Amino acid sequence: MQEKFGRIELLLGDITRVEVDAVVNAANRSLLGGGGVDGAIHRAAGPSLLEECRALGGCETGDARITAGYRLPARHVIHTVGPVYHGRPDDPVLLASCYRRSLELARQHGLASIAFPAISCGIYGYPIEEGSRIAIDTVRDFLDTNPLPERVLFVLFSNEFFRVYREYLQRVTA
Ligand code: ADP
Repeated sequence: MQEKFGRIELLLGDITRVEVDAVVNAANRSLLGGGGVDGAIHRAAGPSLLEECRALGGCETGDARITAGYRLPARHVIHTVGPVYHGRPDDPVLLASCYRRSLELARQHGLASIAFPAISCGIYGYPIEEGSRIAIDTVRDFLDTNPLPERVLFVLFSNEFFRVYREYLQRVTA
């Protein structure tokens, strides 16, 4: 399932199979792999990804780092560390920062396309309604003032998450 809203696209599926300039990994601060999308990306990219990540020495929550994509169809992986959801005022600030820092890295590297999973909305417990709005609002703000990246994909892993993103995108782009 796929749907287009200008420069933003929604895709139902597996982010490890998407052909873009960069896929974003919902990593943890160690950058040494984990469960969920992080495990899937490392498995698909192969052991060289872990080797490059090890040399980075970690990443703060809300920040991002870029590596090669190795065996992935994507040329690069942008690793960002989302907040664990606590319902604190900091949570939305840190989650928005993940999207912004990832987009800044894509722009700095001249990348035309980037694909995001629903950062923090799995093991880290962020409610999908709030998480999707932060994702969409932050990406739309960035695209308003930046020609790169040209295309931003949200790759959702369930029908429910796809529907939540679609409803909000329909509302804000109407
Ligand atoms: P976090 O720890 O930041 O919450 P998770 O990996 O647990 O990260 O989950 C983030 C989102 O990514 C969840 O919605 C999860 O269902 C989804 N996800 C897991 N595997 C994949 C995949 N291969 N492609 C796209 N999304 C995935």
